[in-house]
Amino acid sequence: MASTDPAQRNQVTLLQVGYSRQEDGDEFAMRANCTCTLVRCRDGTNIIVDTMTAWDGEHLRSLLGQQGLGVDDIHVVVCTHGHSDHIGCNYLFLKARMHLVGACASHQDLYMDHLGSGNPDDQLALDSNAEVVVKRSPGHTLSCVSVIVDNSQLGGRVGITGDLFERREDIDDENIWMDAGSENEKVQREERSKMAQLCEFIIPGHGPMFPVTASVRCKLKEDATSIT
Ligand SMILES: [Zn+2]
Repeated sequence: MASTDPAQRNQVTLLQVGYSRQEDGDEFAMRANCTCTLVRCRDGTNIIVDTMTAWDGEHLRSLLGQQGLGVDDIHVVVCTHGHSDHIGCNYLFLKARMHLVGACASHQDLYMDHLGSGNPDDQLALDSNAEVVVKRSPGHTLSCVSVIVDNSQLGGRVGITGDLFERREDIDDENIWMDAGSENEKVQREERSKMAQLCEFIIPGHGPMFPVTASVRCKLKEDATSIT
């Protein structure tokens, strides 16, 4: 049951809005960094989702500092997938009880089979209230995961989806997410539609958060069913 007291909500904060664009004057190069999100669960669990490139360590420390947190205050690291612009600063979070890179969960040299049952609907709860969960969302890579936050301060369910969505504009222009790379375009279309049915807000891999409107849901459902 969702609380109406804002202090009793899970707080979702975008620490850094990501981007991806063609490099000026070089058609064979891109500039890209991920959207980096902090989830402060109401049970006290702090989760960081996608940790930018390895060169962003000092920047990320300072972004967390602005939230009153140090790197040792992060309990769980989730990388939506294993590309270098989503995992680069995992090394900062050595007090975390778990690092999840795609569906692969580890702590030090211990690897845990949390999402390995083969059931695509498997979920892993990250907080004691089971309001913040990780689930598989394959497409961009087959190991991609998303973090789903219920009972958020935004008043709706939030999907932190990594590159399942590149940015809001890729709903009108499919080339944006397809050009960013997809290991299975058909599966990605289906997962995009499922995510939109599930969530009221989406935090994409390389852009700002956007609301999921009825027309967005409708367009994504059409995309998933019309193209085979
Ligand atoms: Zn990415």
